[in-house]
Amino acid sequence: MRMIRTIKQLRRALATSRSKGKKIGFVPTMGYFHAGHISLMKASIKDNDVTVVSLFVNPIQFGPDEDLAKYPRDLKRDSRAAQAAGVDILFVPSVDQMYPQPLLTYVDAGRMGDLLCGATRPGHFRGVVTIVSKLLNIVHPNALYLGQKDAQQVEVIKKMVRDLNFPVCVKVCPTTRERDGLAMSSRNSYLSPTERAQAPAIYKALCHARKMIADGERDAAKINSQIKKLISDGTNASIVYISCVGLDDFCITRRIKGDALIAVAARIGSTRLIDNIVVKVK
Ligand code: AMP
Repeated sequence: MRMIRTIKQLRRALATSRSKGKKIGFVPTMGYFHAGHISLMKASIKDNDVTVVSLFVNPIQFGPDEDLAKYPRDLKRDSRAAQAAGVDILFVPSVDQMYPQPLLTYVDAGRMGDLLCGATRPGHFRGVVTIVSKLLNIVHPNALYLGQKDAQQVEVIKKMVRDLNFPVCVKVCPTTRERDGLAMSSRNSYLSPTERAQAPAIYKALCHARKMIADGERDAAKINSQIKKLISDGTNASIVYISCVGLDDFCITRRIKGDALIAVAARIGSTRLIDNIVVKVK
């Protein structure tokens, strides 16, 4: 595996691969790798000749009161994990490399970036789609690998790729979970043992919602209130939102139909966790 720190070197390395007709897969990350990240890398390695993973904690997607400074970082460990997974290139640019001057031009994530997580994290999805479009312009991959864990990120990036004609195929990998169901996340490392013991309540509540829907429940308000009750009963979590929305447009659904996303964000202690399920109703 090569670790590359500059855009120029990365472009040079990839031009050689491209000229040989190699297929390039790309996995953008903020590092502190866990099995969820590794599953994306493995999916790309399986489908492509060259896999590029970027590791960049992107300052413009963090709000002023968010965890940019304390976001977990461990480059040595990450580099070993990426190499063991079979990654070809780990791209680790500095902030100066990605933002040599203050940005004047951003990509707007539109209405879908203002809903769900966007409602309490203003500017977050603008930061996400801006960095992903910069990285796509640098890497020019054939395929882009994203995790379903960040369902809103997936949909917002899919719309960006469609609207701005990026010639890339978006592949979505399922959420990797701990044994007790907690969705893996770099931010789980913030949880104290007591908080960690409470955190699986979020996915348990989502599984219960899935069962309610399988049993015929279609009323989104009833499903939301049951999720709320199950999370609140077992934890001191503060719920940021619970939403049943259409998967394609994030419009709030009163009655579950078609492809619906049920998404939750909750704070356990000071850690903000998100999780979601997708249900398909005929
Ligand atoms: P991050 O480093 O948290 O920005 O995540 C980088 C990529 O890994 C994103 O596409 C995430 O959706 C994906 N990812 C993070 N956690 C998981 C998980 N538990 N399962 C699958 N993909 C994940």
